[in-house]
Amino acid sequence: MQIGPRIPRVRAAGKDGWEIVYRARALVAAGVPVLNLTVGEPDRTTDPRVLEAMHAAALSGLTGYTFGPGLPELRDAIAQRVTDRTGTPTRRENIIVTPGGQAALFAAHMILLGADDVGLYVTPHYPTYPSTILATGATPEAIPAQAALGFQPQAEAVLEAQSRTNARSLLINTPNNPTGVVYSHKTISDVAGACRDADLWLISDEVYDTQVWDGAHLSPRSLPGMAERTVVIGSMSKSHAMTGSRLGWIVAPEEVVSAAAVLATNTTYGVVPYIQKGALAALQMGPALEEEIAAPFRRRRLLAQRAVAGSSHVRMAPSAGAMYVMLDIRATGLSGEVFASRLIEEEHIAVMPGESFGAAAAGHVRIALTLPDDQLEEALRRIVAFAQA
Ligand code: PMP
Repeated sequence: MQIGPRIPRVRAAGKDGWEIVYRARALVAAGVPVLNLTVGEPDRTTDPRVLEAMHAAALSGLTGYTFGPGLPELRDAIAQRVTDRTGTPTRRENIIVTPGGQAALFAAHMILLGADDVGLYVTPHYPTYPSTILATGATPEAIPAQAALGFQPQAEAVLEAQSRTNARSLLINTPNNPTGVVYSHKTISDVAGACRDADLWLISDEVYDTQVWDGAHLSPRSLPGMAERTVVIGSMSKSHAMTGSRLGWIVAPEEVVSAAAVLATNTTYGVVPYIQKGALAALQMGPALEEEIAAPFRRRRLLAQRAVAGSSHVRMAPSAGAMYVMLDIRATGLSGEVFASRLIEEEHIAVMPGESFGAAAAGHVRIALTLPDDQLEEALRRIVAFAQA
């Protein structure tokens, strides 16, 4: 018996880039210590107060189905947070709680695109972007953000791709995984303008919105004429060190939220209610907890800048947010893939090859700032020496 065509299309979309991760695991299993800079996950666990709130909620009886778009009190808290952070009035009706940002990305494309439609996304990209679009049955089309332009996407490229493919949506991500780049105000307003001019839905992945090192996060939904065409993807994974809880959301016009509720009824059946209560408790702790969780990455990005500052072979992309930095290693003459695979074999240091995030990141490697400072410093010192050799 043959399975249907959709998932083979997703599989065929390309390499998943996990080779180095698997190799690192195999070395560790064989007793070889590895400095692992591949994992995009905070190196701390969920705050005990959040876990206690989940525990209490579960014991109080919140263990049943939660139909619909989420607990009203959590939707209100998310709406309030969005209003406070962006200045755009946002109500409960604009919010649906999803099992993580990834499910929100899938839902957004499922709702906005038909099977014959094209969804644009900016590359270098979080690896699930093209495959998520494919999984909905639609067709992904990449818009390269060039290293030479600081990985800032260009409005002209959006307009060109839209007129060539008749795309209906554009997916952007700032602060960005994998580059660590934060889009400038100009980039965001130019891209928003392109969406208005070409009548595109804008899907704005803002899961790293609490990790901006210079200035403040700007949500394109807050720009004139954008709230009605923007779908924001949010998540507690990175802002609150809750990756395993699977708690994310969509901020969107009411009709998108109500369509997402229909999709949820036919897929997830909603999000675990005591997890939602834990998320509510976390949000009620306000920016203090978010800043505490972001602080190590803010510190380590500076540490990374210092570590590569004198190198003629390793240059850091203009990273200003998220828990990553992208190192340009083109001066070594190696591809990111060869560099990463030699680094794991010879130095037992695991980094992600830039190519696993798209050809636009060729000749780069991504470093996740998720090791303790002393280990990160040692890894970077050895990476710089390795590049020089
Ligand atoms: N978007 C980006 C850019 C990410 O890096 C991730 C996770 N690494 C996600 C979405 C999905 O995160 P989650 O499903 O845990 O919210």
